[in-house]
Amino acid sequence: MPVKFKLIRDKVIQTGIKMSGGGLVLGTWGNISARIPEENYVAITPSGVDYDNIGLEDIVIVDLDGNIIDGSKKPSIELILHLEVYKSRENVNAIVHTHSEYCTALAIARKGIPAAAEDLVQIAGGDIRVTKYCLPGSKELGIETVKALKDRNAVILANHGCLAAAKDLKEALKVALIAEKSAKATIFAQLMGGVVELSQHDIDFMRDFYLNKYGQR
Ligand code: 13P
Ligand code: ZN
Repeated sequence: MPVKFKLIRDKVIQTGIKMSGGGLVLGTWGNISARIPEENYVAITPSGVDYDNIGLEDIVIVDLDGNIIDGSKKPSIELILHLEVYKSRENVNAIVHTHSEYCTALAIARKGIPAAAEDLVQIAGGDIRVTKYCLPGSKELGIETVKALKDRNAVILANHGCLAAAKDLKEALKVALIAEKSAKATIFAQLMGGVVELSQHDIDFMRDFYLNKYGQR
């Protein structure tokens, strides 16, 4: 029998391979999902499976209430976290959740990423806030993440890692990579005496530039 939603399942798998290859997770931590807009479904990685060993049929298809539509494996334990973000942000079609090193350093210090690096404010929309601490897999983690994510494309999960949300998987992975780079730069800048933040005017200018003018049109 042909696999339903083959294209989106494959994109989730390929993003996982890139996320793991890019050093944003070690082992099976982290998870990835994408919206299937035509059906109001979500495709999400299975729980605790190595990223280079996820088959098409292992990707779990759920509806927005978390009911399993298809898939042979248990979904990620962060299914509720992903669904809370999709339910609150209509323009989010993909989520990449990482346990990357420098974001984790900030997460255990319970600090966000200030709005200082140009690429970060362009892609994430400003500073990256940190959530209050909530247990993994809890509904509370979803609720607190949605709050801290307001008007941004990434958030630091206290004592946990990073969550990047964007219009598609390619952009969500890029957000996660830039968040990690910015977390690293923030820590180095603190060692050199501190971070100089950008003004709101300059942040708004760069966000608009990124969304409407940057690159090939
Ligand atoms: P899963 O393997 O169930 O996705 O859990 C990993 C994780 O990062 C939990 O926060
Ligand atoms: Zn996690």
